[in-house]
Amino acid sequence: MTFAVLVMMIRIKNIILIYNFEMVKTKKKTRKIGTRKNTLFKTDHIVFFDDDFERNIQPFRDQFPKIKSILIPPYNTKSYTQILNDKSDFYYPIEFSKKYKDNRYAQYLVKGLDMKHSKNLCNQCSNMTNQGITVSQINKIIKWSNTPSKKERTVLFDLDNTLIICNLILSYKDLENTTFSVEEIAQYISGTTERYDALLLMFFYLRKNGVACKIFTNNGWANREIDEKYFLFFLKLMQVFDPKMKEDDIIFGKRDKIQTFKKNKVMMKMYKK
Ligand SMILES: [Mg+2]
Repeated sequence: MTFAVLVMMIRIKNIILIYNFEMVKTKKKTRKIGTRKNTLFKTDHIVFFDDDFERNIQPFRDQFPKIKSILIPPYNTKSYTQILNDKSDFYYPIEFSKKYKDNRYAQYLVKGLDMKHSKNLCNQCSNMTNQGITVSQINKIIKWSNTPSKKERTVLFDLDNTLIICNLILSYKDLENTTFSVEEIAQYISGTTERYDALLLMFFYLRKNGVACKIFTNNGWANREIDEKYFLFFLKLMQVFDPKMKEDDIIFGKRDKIQTFKKNKVMMKMYKK
């Protein structure tokens, strides 16, 4: 065996060792995330998905132990307020518009955006499917809905960074804009076309299997009291994902989802069953 071959063999061995080490590390991480508290069981009949652990998931687990409150880990560890102040969502259109050149909503958002200043955040946004419910989680929800249940079932979805991969920040003039469609906005806030298709399929199966679907959000667009017109636009946008969604399926959290839930007679009746 020549010296060169020996060196090469040691290198290959090291690569294999490093590779194995990474696999173990990844496996460990996956196990950590997949806690029982975040796993769907066929006995779960009210399920709540949200990315805000402190203000929503933990209080819900304390107050309503019969609800399966599942944390959607946020990709961005910054608080909600910080995200809005930094307006990180506004850097996302650049990435999206480069990938989906035919999405007119993304192209419209990109106009006037400063590439130089958004560069760093753009890099962070390159893997946007890390935010919100993932496609693999969507498949698990579909599987869960396909399992027969003795009880009536309801799924509550938080909107921002849970159902969609960013914070929905629409401009009021978007309502009247006819250069893009409501479907193009829906595709944009889904992150990728694969995830968009998966969401549509998920709602299709949930409804087919008799599972009630609700949007449970603090996003101001769901606040009917501000302006009926905006609320109806929001409903129209949600109906792109779920054509069976009705006005009552949009629950505005009023910044206190616990109290809102307690005051919702339909939901409390369901909870007590
Ligand atoms: Mg959220």
